[in-house]
Amino acid sequence: MFLPRSVKVKRTPDEDRSCTAKKHKLSSGGSLLEETTEFQDCKSVGTETSASTYSLSETVQEHTEPAAADLGVANTPLGKDNQNTDEDGSLEEPIKSFSKSQRWAEPGEPVCVVCGRYGEYICDKTDEDVCSLECKAKHLLQTQAKEKQLRSDQCTDSQAEAHLLNTPYFYKDHSFILGLQDEQVENLKLQLGIAVQGQQVPRPIVEFEHCGFPETLNNNLKNSGYEVPTPIQMQMIPVGLLGRDILASADTGSGKTAAFLLPVIMKVLKETETPSALILAPTRELAIQIERQAKELMAGLPNMRTVLLVGGLPLPPQLHRLKQSVKVIIATPGRLLEILKQSSVQLHSIKIVVVDEDKKLFKPPVLVFVDCKLGADLLSDAVHKITGLLCTAMHSEKSQVERTDILQGLLQEKYEVIVSTGVLGRGLDLVSVKLVVNFDMPSTMDEYVHQVGRAGRLGHSGTAITFINNNSKKLFWDVVKRVKPTGTILPPQLLNSPYLHDQKRREQQRLKQLQSSLVTGDNIMDIIKKHNKNNSQR
Ligand code: AMP
Repeated sequence: MFLPRSVKVKRTPDEDRSCTAKKHKLSSGGSLLEETTEFQDCKSVGTETSASTYSLSETVQEHTEPAAADLGVANTPLGKDNQNTDEDGSLEEPIKSFSKSQRWAEPGEPVCVVCGRYGEYICDKTDEDVCSLECKAKHLLQTQAKEKQLRSDQCTDSQAEAHLLNTPYFYKDHSFILGLQDEQVENLKLQLGIAVQGQQVPRPIVEFEHCGFPETLNNNLKNSGYEVPTPIQMQMIPVGLLGRDILASADTGSGKTAAFLLPVIMKVLKETETPSALILAPTRELAIQIERQAKELMAGLPNMRTVLLVGGLPLPPQLHRLKQSVKVIIATPGRLLEILKQSSVQLHSIKIVVVDEDKKLFKPPVLVFVDCKLGADLLSDAVHKITGLLCTAMHSEKSQVERTDILQGLLQEKYEVIVSTGVLGRGLDLVSVKLVVNFDMPSTMDEYVHQVGRAGRLGHSGTAITFINNNSKKLFWDVVKRVKPTGTILPPQLLNSPYLHDQKRREQQRLKQLQSSLVTGDNIMDIIKKHNKNNSQR
């Protein structure tokens, strides 16, 4: 059955009861999977529609009885006697049959687990987000295939799972770490910039393997590309695994999220009461990122579910999911309070609370300049994917509304990185920018000067990093002249470039010529003589 998000928002308590009744009826009608398979095999077959049931899309023909129920579709809207009122007219938006008729998800909206479009519905069998009947069918088939695979390994898996859940986990220093001298450990911490305060703080780990995590978690780390822990992870993970209270601070992008997620995962893995952990994040974007990482790290671990409670998205689906025995809540404080005020949800089973990222730690954003719109979009996406930083692109194709939004976001510290074409190069006082990166060197020195001038406005100091290659060879000498007096160390490749030397030589020649044509006390007699000689020759 689908639980369409839009419908849930508008449902009244009466309607909810009828929904429950219908859910019963539907689930008694046979396996969802069989039914959805039938849908897949027979795409032109649809549902008999009435004013009070969901209809399939217009490409679908009229069909016999099983209708929406066969397809696992809730026969909502669920008004009394299936009658329509103006009020619930909006509830009758047909369930999308095909993935292609669904729109793409806006940032922060749920995403279909199959095709990546807007996950408008929740598949009741798996609790995953799907965009249409088509993707639901595919999703259930995929799930079935996975389950089959799982069953084939069932024996070993269930033994491993039982072992995982029944064996108590206690963190203790790995023999490699124990074998290190105190001096070596202090040296390591010094080199990695790890500073600690507190009683009996455990030594940092050097490898994830030093934690004694279950195999699945070690594999998840590898699959996420986490080969070695970052410094904050090295120190924070053992402290967290010991169940100690921690106050940690590290730069954005230094791996803090995994540093707290890994101990949280190990702790809640064996908890039977739900929810067991609460992670609070100041913004919706950050909460979404945390949940994404949590899901990656928890994949394949038994009974691990997360819920995202954030504003800007409908509340009922979040509440619904919260009631599905989730282990970890990831929430913004505003939405969490809203839910606690409205519903009877109890949080007494929570054992761990993580508060992520104090806003005050937010760093001023980085402004990156590129030379074309496509470059801005691509680089912004790439930086976001690789670093998890909040990025946006700015260029002439952005509407005025978007531009205003981006600039406001910049001033409100909503973005950590802005990738822009020359449109942001001039005029605006982006006081909060401290670092400019010229990813593409501009084509003129004039533009370059304006771009680097975005960092350090109004007497603030700032830094500019410029990438330069032979495409800008005409500007080598000008750049060096401009940058050298600031004490910047310039790369030898630039300083030794033949283009630079050629430009320097030409400039010196020009200067000499200019000097020789200037009239001074020293050369005035020579110039007069030369002039007279020329005249007498004529
Ligand atoms: P964070 O500071 O937690 O936002 O992490 C920044 C980015 O680094 C995220 O994209 C993480 O997936 C990634 N990351 C975290 N820990 C590691 C690690 N040990 N190795 C490689 N990437 C990591």
